[in-house]
Amino acid sequence: MHYSHHSERLPWRVSAVLAGALILAAAPGSFAQETADPLGKALLGPTGIIEDLRYLCDVIGGRVTGTPACERSIDWAVERFRQAGIENVRTEKFQMPAAWEELTARAEAILPTRFPIRVASMGYSPSTPEGGIVAPVVDIGEGREIDFRKAGEKVRGGILLLRSEILDSLENLFLEYLRLPGIIQRAEEAGALALVEVSTRPRNLLYRHVAAFGVDVDLPIALASREDSMRLLRLLDAGEDVQIRLALDNRSRAPFESRNVVAEIRGSERPEEIVVLGAHLDSWALGTGALDNGCNVALVIDIARAIQAMDRKPSRTIRFVLFTGEEQGMWGSRGYVRAHRNEMDRHVAAVIVDLGSGRIEGFSLGGRSDLKPAIEEILSPFKDWNAGNHTTDAFVGTDNFDFLLEGVPNLVANQDAAPYLPEYHAESDTFDKIDIETLKANTALVGLLIRELADLPDRLGPRQNRAEVANLMAETGVGGQMRTFGFWIDWEERRRGRTE
Ligand SMILES: [Zn+2]
Repeated sequence: MHYSHHSERLPWRVSAVLAGALILAAAPGSFAQETADPLGKALLGPTGIIEDLRYLCDVIGGRVTGTPACERSIDWAVERFRQAGIENVRTEKFQMPAAWEELTARAEAILPTRFPIRVASMGYSPSTPEGGIVAPVVDIGEGREIDFRKAGEKVRGGILLLRSEILDSLENLFLEYLRLPGIIQRAEEAGALALVEVSTRPRNLLYRHVAAFGVDVDLPIALASREDSMRLLRLLDAGEDVQIRLALDNRSRAPFESRNVVAEIRGSERPEEIVVLGAHLDSWALGTGALDNGCNVALVIDIARAIQAMDRKPSRTIRFVLFTGEEQGMWGSRGYVRAHRNEMDRHVAAVIVDLGSGRIEGFSLGGRSDLKPAIEEILSPFKDWNAGNHTTDAFVGTDNFDFLLEGVPNLVANQDAAPYLPEYHAESDTFDKIDIETLKANTALVGLLIRELADLPDRLGPRQNRAEVANLMAETGVGGQMRTFGFWIDWEERRRGRTE
């Protein structure tokens, strides 16, 4: 998830993919995504990307880190890299803080009348006591301090219903995460029994994300269908006594090990210098993790396959890394950076793709305006692709984060979020939502970027020291986000990120 850029959806029509070339419907104001570069041509042509994605989503399915499905996806990805002829393929272990799994989630209205309520537990929510909680519903508005004051004494012993807007932008998605830690704290302090958030997606759609990164949550937290929630809120507005039963049964287990998948194409001239291309392999499991982030796992594998098939290998080493543990708080990329701390100086760049199959409009440069001229230069042959929206924002939200903390130049694809948002983490995030032609164009663009980063005569930019990273955190607001999410303490105490 990113938040600080926004752009209009541009007219983008591809009529057909034929014999390895994109034929474009040239409408006024449209743009062409073509290239004469052999690597780009190969990636725009027929490849295994669709079949890979179909297998990952439909056969393996949703893959929460620590579950058998996630293990299976790890083994599958290793096989796919090996079948591409890449010799150096391995998994690397890292520690996950806790395993969490939803067993059942049920709710029903008891008063003033009985009806079922669709709910899902938020990630890491504890279970309710056996048999569930029966309690009055309290409209807690947007959950701000003023809302809690307004609700007054009713909060104690109540099930709080937290209002939300329909999700329409990345900014609002980000705010959905940012507001929760404070609301949970207020709810716990005021003696609420549970917190129920109104789904930001209509038509009874449920989804899941962690309630709060890195924060221990004692309060049961669920998401309820928008339609059921609106009915409850209307009943409250009409002055009815509204009671519901909420029964969440979740299983938490001890810390465990998960694995990242690492496939390496050794550099032909400067093998000691490393460019990382990464995407997270894990997903939530209400849907099958197609937009988030199966399509970009398939993108990474496709690029590895195409570069491996080229006669000339890039100058620097390219590491293709599929992280797990992302959805629980970016544990895989954290683990990777920790395991490779001694070679961080030799990491030239890390590029992360994590926003579905919406068109790549440019790259977020992790707060580094000094990288912009070089990225513009690299992508100058792609003027017609309309992919020049490079932003110097930085955010806590995907696997570039630990590279940023280490001062390593990091890029995240800025993508059109319109196709991604309605299905974000939801039951509806399935293979059929993928825009295959755009995914292929994205794959070509990222493939060429990665190869150029690996071939650049000079490094993309210097590695930042701790003071420079700290300065970037202050300038971009990343520091504030880290405090809200509970990530600050590890940085402050030098357990995470650059130490000097
Ligand atoms: Zn993701």
